[in-house]
Amino acid sequence: MTDPRLTRRGSLVRLGGFLATAIGAAGLKVETSDGAGPAAVASGAVSRVLTPEQTEGPYYIANEALRRNITEGRPGIPLLLRAFVVNASTCRPIKSAAVDVWHADAGGVYSGFGSGAASRTFMRGIQRTNAKGLALFRTVYPGWYRGRTVHIHVKVHLGGNVVHTGQLYFPDTVTDAVYRNKPYSSRPNRDVRNASDSIFRNGGSKSLMSVKKNGSGMYVATIMMGVHRS
Ligand code: FE
Repeated sequence: MTDPRLTRRGSLVRLGGFLATAIGAAGLKVETSDGAGPAAVASGAVSRVLTPEQTEGPYYIANEALRRNITEGRPGIPLLLRAFVVNASTCRPIKSAAVDVWHADAGGVYSGFGSGAASRTFMRGIQRTNAKGLALFRTVYPGWYRGRTVHIHVKVHLGGNVVHTGQLYFPDTVTDAVYRNKPYSSRPNRDVRNASDSIFRNGGSKSLMSVKKNGSGMYVATIMMGVHRS
């Protein structure tokens, strides 16, 4: 990508007033005292704290909207994404981090690219973490596209920096169950599962979400992302 809007620095510049305000005001004193804490890290009770960096891939678009519901009415099985951001050194929640997500729609299409080119916004959005380090998104279970296992891309912005770029994964058995339903069932035979995905195999198991179906048929996906501050 040579478009300067898509460079890392460009994305920060263009994230807009809300981030300048939020991060500027929050400054560096954004941690709260709850969470597992440094003792848990020291004792070894908490492991796998640092979430691995994984490529952002070719489909990132900077400066997306601050919004919880990123579906724009597109079809799919409802998914609530619960992304926690914690300090990888202390395990404490990080407040006011900007969590930036993007993923393919149920048909495996990214907004801004290919058959999704008419829109640059569906299945993309930003939320800030609360005092518990939690950012919530309402979306749909992503579809698959050729050559990749199902995933959600994520960036975490903190204090004017991108402190994490990664990908979040789903248990294959859950994906199999979801994909038996419309509209996913019209595209059977996804070609790559987690174990055979070249990016997942490079540390992706640490970004495997806990995914559960709730009583109303919505899937709830939870991940804890441990990040360094710079
Ligand atoms: Fe992707």
